[in-house]
Amino acid sequence: MEKRIYNFSAGPAALPLPALEEAQRDLLALPGVGMSIMEISHRSKQCLEVFESCEANLRKLLSIPDSHKVLFLHGGASLQFSMVPINLLRGSGKPADYIITGSWAKKAIKEAQREGETNVAWDGSGDNFKRVPKDSELQLSSDAAYCHYTSNETIQGIEFDKEPDTGDVPLICDASSNFLSKPLAMDRYGILYAGAQKNAGPAGVAIVIMREDMIERFGEETHAMLDYRNAIDKQSMYNTPPVFAVYMVGLVAKWLVETIGGLDKMQKINKDKAQLLYDAIDQSGGFYKGHAEKDSRSAMNVTWTMENSELEQEFISSAQAQGLSGLKGHRSVGGLRASIYNAMPVAGCETLRDFMLEFQKNKG
Ligand code: PMP
Repeated sequence: MEKRIYNFSAGPAALPLPALEEAQRDLLALPGVGMSIMEISHRSKQCLEVFESCEANLRKLLSIPDSHKVLFLHGGASLQFSMVPINLLRGSGKPADYIITGSWAKKAIKEAQREGETNVAWDGSGDNFKRVPKDSELQLSSDAAYCHYTSNETIQGIEFDKEPDTGDVPLICDASSNFLSKPLAMDRYGILYAGAQKNAGPAGVAIVIMREDMIERFGEETHAMLDYRNAIDKQSMYNTPPVFAVYMVGLVAKWLVETIGGLDKMQKINKDKAQLLYDAIDQSGGFYKGHAEKDSRSAMNVTWTMENSELEQEFISSAQAQGLSGLKGHRSVGGLRASIYNAMPVAGCETLRDFMLEFQKNKG
């Protein structure tokens, strides 16, 4: 096999090796089935078992209460930017609150604006999206249909360390880039959704976790694939679901349960990994400049800049030559970004930290 390099891409991102190996082993013939997971009917008993065991492991990892449904939907997190307001804002006569912490929150509110009135509860753009707000800074509407926030801004590298307090207003969360990285107080969420392709699996499926009382708030019937009711009634199988992607999410969830030992353990590993890189930034005497304010730093996406773009370019290409891939910052903000999701091993972060120290020694 070709040697695997350290992949610091923001998503699609590194997947746990045991999950990839199990998929490889069973690719041609799933045990007891004799066909590939990509070839079996989504109505078959075996496929239902794949979905059920994936859901069971997600429930175990996140302690998802019985009051919450777990859905596997097409269209990535981006379609949830639309489905949330189509189902909950359209025709509600209420505003929807949005906390604008970065590029993804901006995309989310844009779709909501097509469906009804929106209120910006907080906007970090004046500050170049360097931090998340405190509860005391939020300007929430008392009668909002919901409040939407982005728990980790993948591009800017800032992360909430707890849920914003929205009182009785349903909390909706885009958790795409820190889903399954730490335990969550699931009972706090009306809807939490995540595209799989960072921490949970390959692209092609969004995991949507929804408290049942949201259903009463849905507006009028709409296009079948955009109406949550159909997904709920048909257990995520209104049409042919992304079976392979769900299967992979199941393998990743199994790895988290059986090998890692749960999300408390995963969180500790993730914090330690991030600390290695933030220490290299903080101890560089300004050679590396972190983008995020310290108390808003993401444990998933570490973002920083250097004195000039030539030096950054040189950093990226020499890192690539040493098997450290995907370190270029997002085109909209520039600089560098190391995405260190669950599947990035500690050794990968240590290798990057050593590379950062060495590069500074040579160029600083
Ligand atoms: N939200 C966040 C926080 C993201 O990082 C991304 C993808 N990078 C998205 C939404 C969009 O996800 P998708 O490509 O699954 O639509």
